[in-house]
Amino acid sequence: MARDSIVILGAGIIGLDVAIELSKRGYGKYVTVIAEHLPGDTSIDYTSPWAGANFSGISGGDANALRWDRAGYTLMMEMIDKKVTEARYLEKTESTEYWDEMPQPDKIQSMTEYLRDLVIIPKSELPKAVAFGIKFTTVTINAPAHCQHLKTLLSEPEYGSVPFIRRRASRLQDAFLSENTKLVFNCIGNSAITLSGVSDAKCYPTRGQILLVKAPSVKQNIMRHGNGYETYVIPRPLSDGSVILGGYMQKGNSFPNVKEEETKSILQRTGELLPVLLNGEVEIIGAVVGLRPSREGGARVEQERISDKIVIHNYGAGGTGFQAGIGMAVDAVDLAAESLKELNQKSML
Ligand SMILES: Cc1cc2nc3c(=O)[nH]c(=O)nc-3n(C[C@H](O)[C@H](O)[C@H](O)COP(=O)(O)OP(=O)(O)OC[C@H]3O[C@@H](n4cnc5c(N)ncnc54)[C@H](O)[C@@H]3O)c2cc1C
Repeated sequence: MARDSIVILGAGIIGLDVAIELSKRGYGKYVTVIAEHLPGDTSIDYTSPWAGANFSGISGGDANALRWDRAGYTLMMEMIDKKVTEARYLEKTESTEYWDEMPQPDKIQSMTEYLRDLVIIPKSELPKAVAFGIKFTTVTINAPAHCQHLKTLLSEPEYGSVPFIRRRASRLQDAFLSENTKLVFNCIGNSAITLSGVSDAKCYPTRGQILLVKAPSVKQNIMRHGNGYETYVIPRPLSDGSVILGGYMQKGNSFPNVKEEETKSILQRTGELLPVLLNGEVEIIGAVVGLRPSREGGARVEQERISDKIVIHNYGAGGTGFQAGIGMAVDAVDLAAESLKELNQKSML
């Protein structure tokens, strides 16, 4: 096996989670990552740095979403408990979530099976027009720092000294870097809409504007999944009192610029949700826009055979790449098991 036997196309959280999973299974030294944007960059075409990010009930109720959520939550909690180095920018925080419309019964059932310290808030204590609410211990992630940290770890010999090459692919085939490349993980986020060889008509962006503020009094997460709006407050771990205030879920909208009226609406809605934000200490550091890589029917984690080569597609995580990405990576690498075995056997000949 060679350094480029396995190529990961994309260095957002989805590609990084796959690289970590391959590295844990002993394949790190055969992996190369290629991507137009790398951890540390900021661009409207690179979603991961803009995420809140936390684990929440924002995901869909289909079987894959429920399974990836459970896997992500459980594995991240274990990583924090064991103080593993990949968990440096993950933190446990108290969270409250409200839904204006009742979530699907399967989703409620699933969450009750694994969320820690879960309390279903009695109807009498719910805010006006809220149908359902929970409190639990969640996982909160400093998204940009976590991505940079994973890249740094992957570059270490222990993880396989994985090289990160900055390169734009103009078609999926470009990810097959040489004769050696037999396996490609396609983790290109929103580019799944346009990249030749993928062009997935089910994919679309979901726009979200957020504010990064300084608000050291905020120690808890709170979210309201509304009818036509999404309001949330997420303190950023290891950040000196930074907090993410959001937001929006604008399906099919890719407008890249900040809108002043949306900034006002976010401040108003988050202040109503968490009145400590009205104590005068909130200082706006910036307003930004991110485009969630969404897909009708949910993310695509699937194998495609192209003659003697294998592509594992892994994109379309929408608003859940951080919470579901680890579970998606486990499935993606499992799908490649046969191909990895073949590569291993050939390298022993
Ligand atoms: C405002 C906001 C809040 C969010 N909050 C949360 C949250 O609280 N919890 C959560 O779990 N998720 C959250 N998300 C969702 C999460 O950010 C995404 O699901 C995740 O970042 C998607 O990661 P990705 O790796 O698929 O895509 P990206 O991060 O966009 O990465 C794509 C990679 O592919 C590369 N690429 C693309 N095309 C090419 C090409 N042609 N050639 C070479 N490289 C290419 C890019 O350069 C990049 O490296 C939020 C998103 C937004 C916008």
